[in-house]
Amino acid sequence: MSFRRQLFLSLAVLVVVPAVIAALAIGRVVTANENAKADARLQAASRVSGVIESTANRRSAARAETLQEDRALRRAINTGRPSVILEALPAAVKRAGLVGVIAKFPSGRTETVGVTPAVGIANVKAPLGPTGKGEVLFTFAFQSAPAYVNEVAETGGVPVALVGEDGRVLAKSSTFPGDDAINLKVMPPQPLGRWRSAEQPISTLGTASNAEVVFALNPSGGTSPLASRLVLGVLAAFIIVGITLGFVLVRALRWRIETFLGAAEKLGRGDFSAAAQIPAAGHDEFAKLGRAFIGMARQLDQRVDQLERERERVQSSLLRLGKAFAANLDRDTLVELVVESAVDGLTADAGRALMPSGPGGTPETRGSFGAVLDSWDALGEVERRALATGTSATAEVGELHAIAEPMQVERGDGPLGVISVARMRPFDPGERELLAYLTEQAAVSLRNVGRHEDVARESITDELTGLANRRRFDDVLAHAAARATNEDPIALVMLDLDRFKVINDTHGHPFGDKVLKAVARVVRETARDRDLPARYGGEELAVVLATGDTEAARHFAERLRLAIEALELGDDTTGAVPVTASLGVASLPSDGDDVGDLVRAADEALYRAKRGGRNRVESASPAKGPAGEVR
Ligand code: GH3
Ligand code: MG
Ligand code: MG
Repeated sequence: MSFRRQLFLSLAVLVVVPAVIAALAIGRVVTANENAKADARLQAASRVSGVIESTANRRSAARAETLQEDRALRRAINTGRPSVILEALPAAVKRAGLVGVIAKFPSGRTETVGVTPAVGIANVKAPLGPTGKGEVLFTFAFQSAPAYVNEVAETGGVPVALVGEDGRVLAKSSTFPGDDAINLKVMPPQPLGRWRSAEQPISTLGTASNAEVVFALNPSGGTSPLASRLVLGVLAAFIIVGITLGFVLVRALRWRIETFLGAAEKLGRGDFSAAAQIPAAGHDEFAKLGRAFIGMARQLDQRVDQLERERERVQSSLLRLGKAFAANLDRDTLVELVVESAVDGLTADAGRALMPSGPGGTPETRGSFGAVLDSWDALGEVERRALATGTSATAEVGELHAIAEPMQVERGDGPLGVISVARMRPFDPGERELLAYLTEQAAVSLRNVGRHEDVARESITDELTGLANRRRFDDVLAHAAARATNEDPIALVMLDLDRFKVINDTHGHPFGDKVLKAVARVVRETARDRDLPARYGGEELAVVLATGDTEAARHFAERLRLAIEALELGDDTTGAVPVTASLGVASLPSDGDDVGDLVRAADEALYRAKRGGRNRVESASPAKGPAGEVR
């Protein structure tokens, strides 16, 4: 059932029930009032009937008096003979203006003459004859019963009947209801709309002594009862007022509810301006509801804004991450980006990546992001577990929730590291999945970075010696040469093993390779970080010295020569194999204008060292004097 119907129904019940009760109460009051009025009228009528009766009695007595002077009757009475008397009586009664008489003779004979029943009774005794043979008792009646009841009815204004002791109706006014069979005397006071009655004993002629005059009245006057009309009227009025009120109330309620409904629908469609249409002024429940509604809309608006901002953040983070995966970033930048995206994407407070510095190395923090809080301890715990098990781990340390995911391309691979995030509320399965996805992508990218680094390294490294190859050498030298100035010169040291062919020929090519590797190691160890040792070709090596003039380069070359000479090479089969090298040194800009000049100058110096007896250093600049010979 709709709210509107429910409301209407309740209102109807609320109106109809009291209306019926009120109508019934009014009906009762009106009925009681009508009954009381009717009873008063009945009482008045019974008084009237008493008056009429006593008047009739008096008149009857007066007329009976006149009969004593009636000669004909006197004569008849004087005869002392009942038959004569009875013969004279009708005419005498008529003459006296009476309606009937009962004569009772001393013999006990009783005769009725004239109309019965009748009222207005007068008793007269007369001595029978002059001799006095007892008395005759005359009971005269003044008025016939119908005349009497009609007079009483007319004067009293109520229907009247004369009823015998047995309940039989002896006479009744034309207005009197019902038929003779109705025993009016046993009728109790009747309910609304029915007849009410009153009785009064009366002396009558021609009936058993105890006749009664009965007065009856219909309190509502015989027409449709006033009380029921009132009840119906009140009921109708109540119901009309109730329905009208209900209608108005329901309309008002509906209008307010529809306002809320409309606003809620707009809100549902994301139109937060709808809150402005809500009426919120006042102190009733609707105003409270309105204010609550507006508050809710505002909160929703803020929440949606916040969500939108978060979405944008996640979007930009994803975009950044996508670019990061696609771009050939270095390891650290990549890891930092993944950690940042994980913290953003999972709305964490902090996060970091833990990776071993090299194969078998101890894990160390490689990228951290977010608030530096006490979370690191919690993170440390999950990181250790994730690394140990190779699966994700979660932990709850105090208020802090931490989650760690190992970075591995495939399950079972040794993890490349671990990414962990922490915040003050738990992570749901969707967020864990997101972190797993991020770390997997990071692992794939890291592997690619590793492969890329391998390829790049291979492309510039000499396989046998591990030194830079010729391509790398040319590249670095060209760059360095371009930047060289008088204040910041560069130097080149060229190195060629002495009589290497002999070593090869004597001990075999693989042993020659070993020698070459050993010499390369010495070169690498002697060079500083910013210098570039390279294999120039065959058993010829070179070192680009990033800074230093010819003099510094000479000293470097000399240290190198001594270190090579000090090498102890050979084994049981070969015995000790002495190895030496000749070195040529040149610098830029003092020994030339460009790379070509520099290489040529160093080469020439080397050539001179060979010619000079080998195992020695020669420099290009003649100004510096002859090379320091060792032997
Ligand atoms: P010197 O330079 O003192 O004049 O005499 P040398 O015997 O070293 O003469 P040269 O430089 O002409 O000989 C180069 C030899 O080095 C030739 C070649 O067999 C050997 N060689 C070049 N590259 C390699 C290499 O990668 N491994 C081995 N084992 N030998 C190499
Ligand atoms: Mg050579
Ligand atoms: Mg040589």
